[in-house]
Amino acid sequence: MTTLTFDSLNPATGEVVGSHPKHSQDTVRQAVGRAEEAAAWWAALAPAERRRRLLDYKAVVTQNLRELADLVHRETGKPTGDAVLEIVLAVTHIDWAARHAEKVLGRRRVSTGMIGMNLAATLEYLPLGVVGVIGPWNYPVFTPMGSIAYALAAGNAVVFKPSELTPGVGVRLAELFAESVPEHPVLQTVTGLGETGAALAADPRVKKIAFTGSTATAKRVMAACAENLTPIVAECGGKDAFIVDADADLKAAADACLWGAMSNAGQTCVGVERVYVVDAVYEPFMRELKERVATVRPGEHYGPITMPAQLDVIQRHIDDAVKSGNVVTGGQDAVKAPYVDPVIVEDVPEDSPAVREETFGPTITVRRTTDAQEALELANASAYGLAGTIFSRNARRAMELARLMRTGMTAINSVISFAGVPALPFGGVGDSGFGRIHGADGLREFARPKAISRQRFALPGMNLTSFSRGADELERLIRLVTFLHGRRKR
Ligand code: NDP
Repeated sequence: MTTLTFDSLNPATGEVVGSHPKHSQDTVRQAVGRAEEAAAWWAALAPAERRRRLLDYKAVVTQNLRELADLVHRETGKPTGDAVLEIVLAVTHIDWAARHAEKVLGRRRVSTGMIGMNLAATLEYLPLGVVGVIGPWNYPVFTPMGSIAYALAAGNAVVFKPSELTPGVGVRLAELFAESVPEHPVLQTVTGLGETGAALAADPRVKKIAFTGSTATAKRVMAACAENLTPIVAECGGKDAFIVDADADLKAAADACLWGAMSNAGQTCVGVERVYVVDAVYEPFMRELKERVATVRPGEHYGPITMPAQLDVIQRHIDDAVKSGNVVTGGQDAVKAPYVDPVIVEDVPEDSPAVREETFGPTITVRRTTDAQEALELANASAYGLAGTIFSRNARRAMELARLMRTGMTAINSVISFAGVPALPFGGVGDSGFGRIHGADGLREFARPKAISRQRFALPGMNLTSFSRGADELERLIRLVTFLHGRRKR
């Protein structure tokens, strides 16, 4: 039997980077079968041993950083420096997950309260078994590692399906893991197109799917998972807003805005796509932005558009923005496949596709608002709710605005800084998905809480869970609960 293969291409040059098998449903099933056995072995290791293996994996990835960054560069087209940055971030997450798993998930006693005073109660978080990770191409190390490292640290085995655009990186991540854990295939990579991912989602032995990609595909994955009641974590991108308040450091804001929008050619789920600037500082902010954008060059500061079909979306959004808005930089001829020049358009109506839909390109729309409150309302009027940014010198006011932003994450006076703090959970609301990777929440996402209550002694005259319970016992209970909970607070 011949196995069909597909090529991964360098989007900048069209050169073939590697050829990989299109794994069939049968092959995925076999991988999940092996993963089930590996999961049992991995879960039975002492937490300290899992931690040691994961820290070793971290070291192996770090030792192979240059080679891995070059592969990321060739498969995505992004500058090697950006690839290094995403791998460094991924390494910090492996480290955090390894070091915190036992503390976050390990068994602990919890208070039983007065009514349960004769009980001892413990809570711990046990592994799920096999976790399926379906990853994207834009950050092929950092993004899937946000699920993989936390799922492994929680004691699960992982079957990883990387995007068809970055299969080589996915294969390498599993090969490197096998250097630290050679005994069993605790992390496996299956390659292929959408069907390979679909086969993974449909396998009832997969106990959770961690998906990153488009909202539309997340719905298809969720439908497949519904058959087996398999839970999913969905990280589906966004339309993140950047708010510049009247007291912001405008140079720093323009600098951060530009990088947040244009780095990685805008192919960042938490990239800046909409900018709201309060009237009082609109002109000086735009001057700073214009000055800086003139120095940004595609092919040097950021790479090509990795997924060719995305060029059509970007062109459609630029055409739409230009139709009714005022072009500041770039314009309809900005798309020079596979590269896209930076595009900044002002005064695009809020109900247009360029403002509502995810563009995933080096483009932003900018709008003047009367104040930060209006900026916040516009920022929140999106079906997405992944992340956002606020620039203001007033720390209290910035904090208030950040809390009111309807997103999973907000950065203040910096962009995307939350992604580099492993203790912070990462994920969105609305069309941006649900569930969290990273941090303690990210560890718990890949575990099932196990609650145990043990009776230490029988409470005399209070045998409530028995058919022998009498009226006097009930009376004592009513008196106790009235004493504990019956006083109104006015
Ligand atoms: P998709 O959502 O289609 O793909 C994401 C992942 O899901 C890939 O690994 C893909 O595999 C896999 N997949 C595709 N179909 C299925 C299926 N039926 N069942 C299971 N897995 C499946 O995203 P695209 O790569 O096509 O990008 C489309 C848009 O999604 C982008 O333009 C962007 O707006 C958004 N996006 C958001 C990302 C984020 O960070 N949140 C990341 C990437 C994209 P394969 O690649 O083999 O098709």
